[in-house]
Parts: sequence; C-alpha cells; structure tokens
Amino acid sequence: MAVEVVPGIQQLKVPLPMAFLPYVLVYVIKGADGYTLIDSGWATDDSWNALIEQLHELGIDIKDVAHVIATHIHPDHYGLAGRIRDASGCEVVLHEKEHWMGGGGTSTPEEMAEQSRRWLHRHGTPAATIQEMVRASTPARGWQAPPEPDTRLKGGERLKIGPYTLEVTWTPGHTAGHICLVEHEANFMMTGDHVLPTITPNVSIYGDQQGDPLKDFLDSMDKLKPMGIQRGLAAHEHVIEDLPARLDELKEHHANRLNEMFTAIRNGAETTYDIAAGILWGPGSFHKFGGWQQRAAMAETLAHLVYARNRGLLKEEERLGVMVYTLAGER
Ligand SMILES: [Zn+2]
Ligand SMILES: [Zn+2]
Repeated sequence: MAVEVVPGIQQLKVPLPMAFLPYVLVYVIKGADGYTLIDSGWATDDSWNALIEQLHELGIDIKDVAHVIATHIHPDHYGLAGRIRDASGCEVVLHEKEHWMGGGGTSTPEEMAEQSRRWLHRHGTPAATIQEMVRASTPARGWQAPPEPDTRLKGGERLKIGPYTLEVTWTPGHTAGHICLVEHEANFMMTGDHVLPTITPNVSIYGDQQGDPLKDFLDSMDKLKPMGIQRGLAAHEHVIEDLPARLDELKEHHANRLNEMFTAIRNGAETTYDIAAGILWGPGSFHKFGGWQQRAAMAETLAHLVYARNRGLLKEEERLGVMVYTLAGER
C-alpha cells in the first residue's frame, strides 16, 4: 500500500527475501517525462509483483517509468532495475563508484567462494568453520551480475523531478558510491541505507576491498549534518523525523563499537574473528549466528579495526598469514 510521505512522493513497500530485512522502501515521483523510482527491489518475482501491484494502485503502468535512480548497488535497491528497464525502456542511474563486489560484475560464485575462503583464513577463522561459512555465504540468493546503468552520477548534480530539485550527494561508507538525494527547499532527503531509523547501516570490509569505509561513512555523516535537513526518507523501516539527531546517534554508536572492540582486545582477542566473537551483537550471540551473519559481523568488525589502525590506536601485524591486532602502546 502506497503512502504519500511528502506531497507528490509516494512510498512503496517492496518485500525482500530475508526475514531480518522484510522490505525496501521505494519512492515514486511524477516528473515531466514520466515517473522516477528511487530504488527498486530484489530481483525476485515477489518483489516485482508487489512493485507492479502498488504502482497499479496509483494508476501507474510500469511502461510509464522513465528513470530508476538507485541510491546504491546492493541487490535490495538495484536488483529490479534491469527488469524495469526491460519493461519500460527507462534510464537506469547509479553513482560512478558503484561496482559489483569482486570487480565490475565479472566474479563468478566460485571465484567469490575462493576469495571468501582466503579472507576468512587471513582474519583468524578456525579452519573447521571456514567451509561452513563459505557454503552459507555463496552464492547470494538470486545471484546474477547486475546490469550496467545508462547514466553514472558523480555527485553535485541537481535533478529536477516534478516540483522538486534533488541534489545528488555522494555519501560513501555503506558502499563506495552510495548517494543521498537532498531537497533543500522542502527540507527532506532520500537517505538510502546511509541513514536508517533504528538499524545501524552496515559498514564493512570484505575480500580484497581497500580503503577505510568507516572513515568515509563518518565523513559522509559530517557532510550531511550542516545541511540541517529535518526529514530522512530512508530505504528501510520508516521515515526518519529527526535526521540531525539520528546522525548524532550513529556517530556515537560507532565510537561505542570501537571501545567494545578495544575491550575485547584487552581481554585477549587478537584476530578479526576473535574480536567479532568477543563483542555483543544486536541480533544475538556471534556463536549462534549462521555462517552468512558471522562473516558479515567479521567484515563490520574489520572496518572498525582498520579505522582504528589508521588513527594509530591499534597495531596490525601478520603472523603466519593471519592478521593480528593489538592496542598501540600497551604491548
Ligand atoms: Zn545497502
Ligand atoms: Zn538496503
């Protein structure tokens, strides 16, 4: 059931094939040349049918869609973009830094499994559990190489859609090319997965990923804060009514997470696996997680460890092919 969250902007709930994330919120705006969808849904028939049905309730045929703008490349946001383009001939729009994990959409599930195996070993996963974690992590549900977008954004563009002008704001961190779409006059922004109402957006380092995504994520928070925008049209859960407060909460959350990890290290944990196992997780105990969730927890932990290492708070060294972390100045 569509909800008009801002005059002229409809919010659709498109179901996803995961229990922990039941739907993605797709925003629909009528423009001069047709409708624009912000995000799309997973590449499943369930997502597709729900999208078509909710558009119909609004009197919109899929052929009337002129643009799909994805806030980022994750399959819950970008998954249906290709199918919508096939049905409507619409333009598919994505930031220029968004690429499929493992390199430009070329990695097969087998290559991804091998990379995963190496990564898990390097970060201290016990040999006995690596196989199970790899099995649980690949292939991703409904795996397929995502379609190429028609248009790549850099950030800074001002998109005129109906009565609104959305400023494309590059907010890397959750992914390398995540964008928020900011309406300064009307005082709202589409926040994608960069800011969510109660869920902490996942910030991770996987595989051979380089860089410091947690630093990027926190810098992106700092980029949004001075804009003083009140409402966030998030891509999951519901609309954020006090965006500045939520930005503060998220920054504090990551500072707290770092401190929890330092405590785990003080208690003897040294590898990403042991540190991830030594801290508390919202959904429950690390050791009760399935393989996919354990790997996600490790990737999130590693993003924090790399951030702390780059700031001189942790020392990182390689011991027999495994990366170990110690508190700088304490040993
Ligand atoms: Zn995402
Ligand atoms: Zn998402």
